[in-house]
Amino acid sequence: MAAINLKDIVKRYPDGFLAVKGVSLDIRDGEFVILVGPSGCGKSTLLRMIVGLEDISDGELRIGDAVVNDKAPRDRHLAMVFQNYALYPHLTVFENIAFPLRLQRGQFSEDEITAKVERAAKTLELQDHLQRKPANLSGGQRQRVAMGRAIVRDANAFLFDEPLSNLDAKLRGQMRTEIARMQRRLGTTTVYVTHDQTEAMTLGDRVAVLSKGELQQVASPRGLYEQPVNLFVAGFIGSPPMNFMPGEIEGDVLRLPFVDVPIDARLRERIGDRKIVIVGIRPEHFSDAGLLEDSKRSEGVSFDTEVDVTEWLGADLYAYIPFETSAEVAGTLAELDRDLDGEGMRTQLVVALDDESRIRDGDTA
Ligand code: ATP
Repeated sequence: MAAINLKDIVKRYPDGFLAVKGVSLDIRDGEFVILVGPSGCGKSTLLRMIVGLEDISDGELRIGDAVVNDKAPRDRHLAMVFQNYALYPHLTVFENIAFPLRLQRGQFSEDEITAKVERAAKTLELQDHLQRKPANLSGGQRQRVAMGRAIVRDANAFLFDEPLSNLDAKLRGQMRTEIARMQRRLGTTTVYVTHDQTEAMTLGDRVAVLSKGELQQVASPRGLYEQPVNLFVAGFIGSPPMNFMPGEIEGDVLRLPFVDVPIDARLRERIGDRKIVIVGIRPEHFSDAGLLEDSKRSEGVSFDTEVDVTEWLGADLYAYIPFETSAEVAGTLAELDRDLDGEGMRTQLVVALDDESRIRDGDTA
């Protein structure tokens, strides 16, 4: 096992495209780190540079104590687990796991191979399936065989590139738990690429959020949710996404599209002397005031509004509430943060209410 350190890593593709723009990230020994971001943000490129499938244009990559920029993939001792697990259908589970050892011809005796495979199979709870073929395994078991291949090689780290993206939602959920359980048990340094924020939030010790080839924030899942450093991270983490709306400052009042909020000292400090700000409120931080006890209601700010559409999802009720922003305010806002690109400023508020809420389409609530 080993730590992986990236220092100012850059990837410029031969056509000149800058896919990774100076990323620095220290992954600790035994840590589970997720690289997450929208399509094209450079996360696969970064992973492929770590494993050695892609040249590093600039910067320094260390695995353990060694700089490995120019080392061949096989000398980095990393194990990549691919999306389709890349198992050999005609080989048994035993032979699939033994495969990397047999590749290193003559290095291991038959007894050593058996011992290593059996030890890995035990760790992965595959010992009863060693003589089966991949076709006769569940998705979860196949995933474990792929991890078994990584384990027998005593790899420095596991690297996963969107391993679950081809699976249906139910299996994806099961496999996610499986990977988390195995990683905790093995304690192997793991880097996991995904564009799925549920995977990012549930699997990682820390999550590195990328956008347009740049690292936006590295933090624990809770850290990202509670203290996003910019609008991109705030909007990317959370489902449904955070509502962004304009806020106009008038004296001691923050004027939102629905309600005026008094500005306390803490808020004042954050606002400074700005006149227009972007306000982000997560859908789950709204409540149906009709359901709240008086004491609770007085803790927040209440407003009446017309609900356009509601969606009932069992545990939650989403209510969509349209609002208008003048072109002038919207323009000012777009300039405030390039991450919004004019699109993030939504024209409706989404609120996630308790399923007990009786609010329905067209209601005033
Ligand atoms: P996805 O989730 O869609 O796989 P990603 O975040 O993993 O996206 P990368 O595959 O790392 O993204 O690609 C990052 C950027 O680099 C993209 O804009 C992509 O088009 C570009 N890119 C990838 N490979 C090459 C290449 N060989 N030459 C030029 N540009 C490339």
